[in-house]
Amino acid sequence: MQTSKSIPNDFIRQIIAEDLKISQVVTRFPPEPNGYLHIGHAKSICLNFDIATENAGRCYLRFDDTNPSKEDLEYVEAIKADIAWLGYSWTELRHSSDYFEQLNEYAIQLIKMNKAYVCSLTGEQIKQYRGTLKEPGENSPYRDRSVAENLEMFARMKAGEFADGEHVLRAKIDMAAPNINLRDPIIYRIKNLPHQMTGDKWCVYPMYDLTHCLSDAIEGVTHSLCTLEFEDHRPLYDWFLNVLQTPCHPKQIEFARLSLNYTVMSKRKLQELVENKLVSGWDDPRMPTLSGMRRRGYTPESIRDFCDRIGLTKNNTNIEMGVLENSIRSDLDPKTARVMAVLKPLRVVIENYPKESEQLDAPYHPNDPSMGSRQVTFSKVIYIEQDDFLEEPPKKFFRLAPGREVRLRYAYFITCQNVIKDENGEIVELRCTYDPATKGGSAPDGRKVKGTIHWVSAEHAVSAEVRLYDRLFNKPNPGTGGTDFKTALNPHSIEILPASKVEASLAHSKVGERFQFERQGYFCVDKDSAEKLVFNRTVTLRDSWAKIEKANKLS
Ligand code: ATP
Ligand code: MG
Repeated sequence: MQTSKSIPNDFIRQIIAEDLKISQVVTRFPPEPNGYLHIGHAKSICLNFDIATENAGRCYLRFDDTNPSKEDLEYVEAIKADIAWLGYSWTELRHSSDYFEQLNEYAIQLIKMNKAYVCSLTGEQIKQYRGTLKEPGENSPYRDRSVAENLEMFARMKAGEFADGEHVLRAKIDMAAPNINLRDPIIYRIKNLPHQMTGDKWCVYPMYDLTHCLSDAIEGVTHSLCTLEFEDHRPLYDWFLNVLQTPCHPKQIEFARLSLNYTVMSKRKLQELVENKLVSGWDDPRMPTLSGMRRRGYTPESIRDFCDRIGLTKNNTNIEMGVLENSIRSDLDPKTARVMAVLKPLRVVIENYPKESEQLDAPYHPNDPSMGSRQVTFSKVIYIEQDDFLEEPPKKFFRLAPGREVRLRYAYFITCQNVIKDENGEIVELRCTYDPATKGGSAPDGRKVKGTIHWVSAEHAVSAEVRLYDRLFNKPNPGTGGTDFKTALNPHSIEILPASKVEASLAHSKVGERFQFERQGYFCVDKDSAEKLVFNRTVTLRDSWAKIEKANKLS
């Protein structure tokens, strides 16, 4: 959990500070278990749990499980795991389905008060009767059923006498209300389906608008924090609580939902990607799900930091992916070991190297000696990055080229003497010489080199597969303008490098371990690692190599 961060002072916290004078704060996080949590949910999780902690209050985790056709225990378990991973613990675990009995009684109470009725219009007709934003709706012909008839009909609905959709229970409010949500909303529907928690007990299920406010009230929630699209439902939220005179009346406060550029954030869309096998699963490292981000190497701290940085507002805006990337970089930078890995190897033979090999000391962190160091093996045949050599280097290319001298990180200066090609003209090997006097990376005569590159010893390195990721979509707002969001999928969102080589110290890395591969970014060991280690790139570095080069020049 966060400890030292300063507490923001946004409008939601101001309202709560006021309300605190009268009661203990109780919040809840109410996911529907119909998919995995995404980074948008993290915003709501941080808000609800942090506010409870800041005020010595309580926060419930409540599964909003009123639609058995879409919900699944797999999702329940995944959601619990994700929240725990983020570092939060709920005061109590609840389900909306825990309250089915009470909700049923509240519904009967509404009927008895003549505030609810059984409507037998079809779904299509109900839509037609509802009217539009400009025109009022029309009363249902079933609106004036007697209380006795409504009680009997609702009892028969519960007894399983009808097919799905034959009848619904509706609140009796006002078919001419300017706010369409108040035009006799449906509060119970028939679904002849077993429920993951209640089994075959019910064949009628309460709708969101009835369930949410009453579940909040039953739990004694003081502040029901939700996203802006529920603003228009607030009058309905308050209507139920007023009419039913619940023991407490939680305050609904809305905030802007998180949307991130170049991705989608709806469980329905994410599910479509999974079902159509457009990604490898909910935890595909390209997904904005918490499980995907975890697998990719994101830390809980970085996600909480991100949620702090974006803050709370009343306007929906798109956040740049770069903000998220900065959060993970600044979290990993001070605590992640630097190691060397060559993603696309090019063989280099150091012709004048007299020995078989030698051990060189390499610190794990440039600014933190407490992280210690390891030995890297240097030898006559090494691999460097293909990209670090150009036969005809353009002006600002400071890495290896024919006749050019560069520094091998932690080792020596080498000079490229010869380029060996195969019959197709492809470069297969470089022949270089090294200067033994430059051990450790500087020349006693003070001569400078402009480039420093990383390397691994060919014989000692460990083979690995490296997976590089790019944005999942190539449009900032996939699916806008009436297009199918899937058409904006980025075909280059994953690049697999099966022939990578990592330094020997990584041989026994564990799934989930994180490293900085110098110059390449932050990486995390993937669960697919079996015979071969598989690394996911969490995020690229930015500028940090420029800093190392500068430091080397100064040294
Ligand atoms: P989705 O459209 O992704 O399925 P949802 O709102 O239907 O989202 P729920 O499981 O009902 O998903 O959401 C649980 C809580 O998380 C709700 O309080 C909701 O307001 C909040 N939430 C969902 N998406 C976001 C988001 N992008 N930003 C902030 N909060 C969100
Ligand atoms: Mg939902």
